[in-house]
Amino acid sequence: MDDEIRISVSLPLDDDGFLRRECPTCDREFKWFSHDEGDPDAEPATQYFCPLCGVSSGLDSWWTPAQLELVYGNAGGAIDQAVKDMMADMFKGMKGLTYKPNSSFSLDIETPDALIESDDMVMVEPPCHPNEPLKVPAESAERIYCLICGSAFAA
Ligand SMILES: [Zn+2]
Ligand SMILES: [Zn+2]
Repeated sequence: MDDEIRISVSLPLDDDGFLRRECPTCDREFKWFSHDEGDPDAEPATQYFCPLCGVSSGLDSWWTPAQLELVYGNAGGAIDQAVKDMMADMFKGMKGLTYKPNSSFSLDIETPDALIESDDMVMVEPPCHPNEPLKVPAESAERIYCLICGSAFAA
């Protein structure tokens, strides 16, 4: 059996292809450009810098609470199915025992409604990494930090 449960959840992007993010350090929201998988323009990174406060965090630290809710909600269904499959597998190997999948068995995690992404914030392009544009609240555009290298710039 494969122990890994893969869950793919598509998060909504705004009309320009930006994904909303929340900084784990300053708790403020911004957006980064969501490159397609395999996009040669995407900068390889092991951490990102918050464009608003300049503090870096790991790649998976930027979820907004609404996105986490969406991911966990979708994960619920996938985990549910994986547990059912696993139990069916276990019982298959036992002689004299039959396991009937019971559709009422559920981990009972609700799937939230899809998120709606609004077209707010202003787009800025770091001069050092113009292929990694950002969107920040208008009042924060005076001083922004590059997502990739953390260099400060003004929009
Ligand atoms: Zn921050
Ligand atoms: Zn940069």
